[in-house]
Amino acid sequence: MASHIVGYPRMGPKRELKFALESFWDGKSSAEDLKKVAADLRSSIWKQMADAGTKYIPSNTFSYYDQVLDTTAMLGAVPPRYGWNGGEIGFDTYFSMARGNASVPAMEMTKWFDTNYHFIVPELGPEVKFAYSYHKAVNEYKEAKALGVDTVPVLVGPVSYLLLSKPAKGVEKSFSLLSLLGKILPIYKEVVCELKAAGASWIQFDEPTLVKDLDAHQLQAFTQAYSELESSLSGLNVIIETYFADVPAEAFETLTALKGVTGFGFDLVRGTKTLDLIRGGFPSGKYLFAGLVDGRNIWANDLDASLITLHALEGVVGKDKLVVSTSCSLLHTAVDLVNETKLDNELKSWLAFAAQKVVEVNALAKALAGHKDEAFFSTNAAAQASRKSSPRVTNEAVQKAAAALKGSDHRRATNVSARLDAQQKKLNLPILPTTTIGSFPQTIELRRVRREYKAKKISEGDYVKAIKEEINKVVKLQEELDIDVLVHGEPERNDMVEYFGEQLSGFAFTVNGWVQSYGSRCVKPPIIYGDVSRPKPMTVFWSTMAQSMTARPMKGMLTGPVTILNWSFVRNDQPRLPWPLRTKLRILKKLASMLFQIDEAALREGLPLRKSEEAFYLDWAVHSFRITNCGVEDTTQIHTHMCYSNFNDIIHSIIDMDADVITIENSRSDEKLLSVFREGVKYGAGIGPGVYDIHSPRIPSTEEIADRINKMLAVLETNILWVNPDCGLKTRKYAEVNPALKNMVAAAKLLRTQL
Ligand code: GLN
Ligand code: ZN
Repeated sequence: MASHIVGYPRMGPKRELKFALESFWDGKSSAEDLKKVAADLRSSIWKQMADAGTKYIPSNTFSYYDQVLDTTAMLGAVPPRYGWNGGEIGFDTYFSMARGNASVPAMEMTKWFDTNYHFIVPELGPEVKFAYSYHKAVNEYKEAKALGVDTVPVLVGPVSYLLLSKPAKGVEKSFSLLSLLGKILPIYKEVVCELKAAGASWIQFDEPTLVKDLDAHQLQAFTQAYSELESSLSGLNVIIETYFADVPAEAFETLTALKGVTGFGFDLVRGTKTLDLIRGGFPSGKYLFAGLVDGRNIWANDLDASLITLHALEGVVGKDKLVVSTSCSLLHTAVDLVNETKLDNELKSWLAFAAQKVVEVNALAKALAGHKDEAFFSTNAAAQASRKSSPRVTNEAVQKAAAALKGSDHRRATNVSARLDAQQKKLNLPILPTTTIGSFPQTIELRRVRREYKAKKISEGDYVKAIKEEINKVVKLQEELDIDVLVHGEPERNDMVEYFGEQLSGFAFTVNGWVQSYGSRCVKPPIIYGDVSRPKPMTVFWSTMAQSMTARPMKGMLTGPVTILNWSFVRNDQPRLPWPLRTKLRILKKLASMLFQIDEAALREGLPLRKSEEAFYLDWAVHSFRITNCGVEDTTQIHTHMCYSNFNDIIHSIIDMDADVITIENSRSDEKLLSVFREGVKYGAGIGPGVYDIHSPRIPSTEEIADRINKMLAVLETNILWVNPDCGLKTRKYAEVNPALKNMVAAAKLLRTQL
């Protein structure tokens, strides 16, 4: 019986790693304290997987920040600006690359494929001197071994590593990153040698880029890399793991022909065509790691259905070569259902988090080996049946309303230039208007108030009073800073998706269902289990209150439907793109003076991994967004905000969203957005490319911001440019936000006098 887990969440069931990291960063605990928490987490994870009967248990899937950054450290590819002088990379250099330090900003981060996990993008060029400088993979292998667990060390594969990198500053854009293969492989060989010496008998290379559209040259790099590694790998069993989609036919051919490889891992949940490929020709004698248990969602596996698939696969690859696995690393799902105290039993019976998925994988493997746990399977079958027939899942009114949507529900009647004129008459904003993206720092005190209200420890009256005070403070602060378009600061919101989900029906919430987003940052995606409806208004109360506190224009904050879906655990009993929350933005008379920002932070990240599927997704996303606001008056200005985006390839869809003002995260990827700006000029809408990075504690100077705005003005017309930070300020401290915003406003004012 053979079971395998691709990777496991690092944060711990109660985010132990997050708290240990943040306390270390704040100087409140020592490096030793942090290492101790990390080691305890690793050992409990290994033990748990071993106890469940897992045969192939991963190691080195733990990380203090990110597995791609770990690989950069392993290769010694530290950008020179961090002043590292060789030797084993320690926390100082490692966390400086991840988070920046007082004098140097962080490395860029970007989304890991179509997940909400972010990795630190390697910066490479011909000058980089690679050297084995971070022995984590070997150390973790030995650590597990000392605990009596023989693990499969996992490395980011060399080709995916290079394909996920970018040319360093000053390196020609046309520089072929793959040309560095010959330079990084010797380090991989060293690592492999050490692992062998330490006693490893298996190794896993994650090569998820194989699921993307790769050209012949890129595919050739895989052949080259693994041929070159072949002799070092001899004596080791090698798994090449792919995930997040099926592997295109040509890539499948390249992959399965790789030398020195023992087995291949495939995502059989999202890889809808992989089964056909495997049936069409799987190399004889090789292992198939069949990823049937979904690593990206929280639903219990349909074990009977999986078993049917597994039996079919047995017929293709042979009984002794079939290994039951997860579709991808469990990093992208919640940690342990055991800690969910607030979900009802029925709903809970429909779910499986990482810890439960490990058990499912092993239950399937045991069943395949002829030791089916009948009780476990029949409980699972009963839960599957109850979910299919539950009245909590289907809401007829919602389905009718969706069917009744008309063409005119999809587009505003007037074009954007005419709307902007009408809005400017009302708003009378200066050129280079300043604003922020919505949230203000969430202080410990504020979090406490929300927590106590939720736990019914303080009355509604006290809660409203406290939040009102907070809004008032934020409004006054913005007035003092002389910001033009104000926000209420979102103090009532724990999270931009959860807050809305809590007010909608068809959503469920976990207490500890955290998933790592980047570094110590985690998100707690709501679970959408049924047809979604909105029983009562969601933001009107706080918005009206905020507007009443100031004569300046107030921007109401809403999270858009695409983002809500992309940042939730969605249903797997209907297509992956259900028609989203159909509720339209209704602007009440008392809110008529306001502007609205509908955040579509996650629009880009939902983009399918294959070009052939993009058009369908984008069309769906654009229409979903437009339906929310097409009914508002011309004079109501609709902003949208998007995060971390490389927009070049989807600019037409962004324009098609038809928002009046688009604010985008830009500060870490300036040049990439130039073409977007140009398109923006043609389109006529306002554009606010973030003028400073809020993800770093660094405070930008007025000159630096002015310089950045000037660069934008070289491309953009003055009258469409907005000045704003690149995202919400929720995770920053007031000590950082106050001076940063002060400098931002000063920069805008300075430039106004020069234009
Ligand atoms: N309005 C949200 C905030 O400021 C936007 C956050 C985001 O785009 N991630 O927090
Ligand atoms: Zn953002």
